[in-house]
Amino acid sequence: MSTPVLEISRSAFRADLDAVRARLGESRLLLVMKDDAYGHGIGWAVPEAESAGVDWFGSYDIPSALRIRPLTTGRVYAWATSSTDEVEAALNADVELGVGSADYLADVIAAAERLGIGAGVHLKIDTGLHRNGFRPEQWREAIETSLAAQRRGLIRVVGVWSHLAEASDEEDDAAQRVFRGAVHELEQAGGAPEVLHLTASAAAWWRPELRGTLSRVGAFCYGIRSAGGPQPDGLTLISRLIATVDAVDDGEVRLGIGSFHGLPSILSGVEVGTPGGPRRIIRIDGDRTLLEPWPGARKGDRVTVFGPGRDGEQDATALAERIGSVGEEILTRLTPEVRRVLID
Ligand SMILES: *Cc1c(COP(=O)(O)O)cnc(C)c1O
Repeated sequence: MSTPVLEISRSAFRADLDAVRARLGESRLLLVMKDDAYGHGIGWAVPEAESAGVDWFGSYDIPSALRIRPLTTGRVYAWATSSTDEVEAALNADVELGVGSADYLADVIAAAERLGIGAGVHLKIDTGLHRNGFRPEQWREAIETSLAAQRRGLIRVVGVWSHLAEASDEEDDAAQRVFRGAVHELEQAGGAPEVLHLTASAAAWWRPELRGTLSRVGAFCYGIRSAGGPQPDGLTLISRLIATVDAVDDGEVRLGIGSFHGLPSILSGVEVGTPGGPRRIIRIDGDRTLLEPWPGARKGDRVTVFGPGRDGEQDATALAERIGSVGEEILTRLTPEVRRVLID
């Protein structure tokens, strides 16, 4: 059986980073690298992004941030509420932390005191998503605790941040008002955060008025468009999933990829790019996928399951839309058995 390959283009990644940074203008880019750089691999992506001028990297969890740390001299940020052991490891490695609850703030301050290392902290205000974050009624106390610890040299309040629902412009506008109020309150109390960050890919791109001085962008930097949205101008999906024909028989083409590789089995009916043009997937089994044939189909032919569209294939987001999901989930589901191959 053949092995499927995720072919990843370094030059497409650099071009997307350039396009995102041009679009962001004054707002600085924090490149989001959660889920192993959205399935593409932190190991090459951090140095590549750094050589393209990116100097701020973000991951959800601290273990991923610790993998990023030795690959860059830039700043590294992790926002998941984490265990004491992880917090100590983060402080030792100069990883900045997102903090959105009183308990976690107390943990971070205590760890900084134990280790004698000042922690860079980004305070999260809950602007309506209710996914972690200090509620507005808890904000005053969060500010007082943080600034008291800052005066003792235990933490530095580096940033204020929140996450938008991106469900409607009205809700995002309301979230921004809550956000601005929280920043104002911190500044009134004597805080001077270096960065303010509210937007991820879609809002940072389409709603410049919502951007703070920093933008946390993941999907668009890898060319992954939003579900239900257009491909942003100048961005290209940086990877294509290629499978090889293992057999042709009974009017069906058998591909060496299946649900065991992370391809959702309910994607039957999707069109993929073949040497004979777009063809439909008939069925996805564990270790194989059956396709409609094309004239002259033979063993060894390469088929593009998704990609930037050059071979008649659809993009990862189009596959995700079939199953009510988002493009990055198609990528991050791919198992390690899918070989990652870097091209220029
Ligand atoms: C995933 C994530 C991002 C990046 O979102 P994209 O839509 O991929 O740009 C930004 N901020 C937070 C908190 C996230 O979890």
